[in-house]
Amino acid sequence: MALDELYREVILDHYRNPRRKGVLEGDHIHAEGQNPSCGDEFSLDLQVEGDVVVDVAIQGIGCSISQASGSMMAEALIGKSLPEVTEMTDKFKAMMGIGEGDNPVNPERPGSILGDLEALQGVRKFPVRVKCADLPWTTLEGALESAAATAS
Ligand code: ZN
Repeated sequence: MALDELYREVILDHYRNPRRKGVLEGDHIHAEGQNPSCGDEFSLDLQVEGDVVVDVAIQGIGCSISQASGSMMAEALIGKSLPEVTEMTDKFKAMMGIGEGDNPVNPERPGSILGDLEALQGVRKFPVRVKCADLPWTTLEGALESAAATAS
């Protein structure tokens, strides 16, 4: 199977069967985001204990790219420390060609912190869709900023 096809399968699988769909009970951080250019919506519930993400729930409507990105992100967040979450966010944005660095994933060296999320790297060729892939991550950043503001 060609890599492109494999990536397409991974994206469609997450779109059709989103992981960690739902809402959290009890104490948690909540954030919502929209991508008006495509009509995507995403909401995120995050439970952090100490500095580790212990539970995540997502809800969203929109295109396959935005929803698959959210599902993969939700799965990847579990068990990560907040510094690791920041590292993952930076690497994802770099892979997409946005934010600080422009650093496409090297296909010769798979197995980075991004895991399945590398399936989205082809999206960087379509600037309009990059916003779709980025929506869950922008929502995540908003969630963590509001958490930091509440904690201090
Ligand atoms: Zn979209």
